[in-house]
Amino acid sequence: MEKIEHLGIAVKSLATSNSLFEKLLGVAPYKEEEVASEGVKTSFFRTGESKIELLEASNPDSPIARFIDKKGEGIHHIAFAVNDIKSEMARLKAEGFVLLNEEPKMGADNKWVCFLHPKSSNGVLVELCQDRG
Ligand code: ZN
Repeated sequence: MEKIEHLGIAVKSLATSNSLFEKLLGVAPYKEEEVASEGVKTSFFRTGESKIELLEASNPDSPIARFIDKKGEGIHHIAFAVNDIKSEMARLKAEGFVLLNEEPKMGADNKWVCFLHPKSSNGVLVELCQDRG
């Protein structure tokens, strides 16, 4: 793991939360992107070396919609930057973590991603992400 790449925050409305986080961080989002396969619309903010990802459900069956139903808005995942996602996935699987996808998949912000089930990491949804270059 190289560093925390971003924190993901589940929100009900990207439009409302974009303006809230713009006030909080003093910068506008540098991109908005829909990841249709995941049922999410995202926006990304930079603050220093770190990033914040806001996630809004794009359909009622989206994992983000289910998360908000259960827990309300708030921190959804921690994403770590990795250099070699396949070897990190193999290492973590061997350590007993439960991978939610067995192959890296295309995530937002030009990344390969893999998620770890929160039940194997103290209730924290962990994302690995590697730049697609
Ligand atoms: Zn993320």
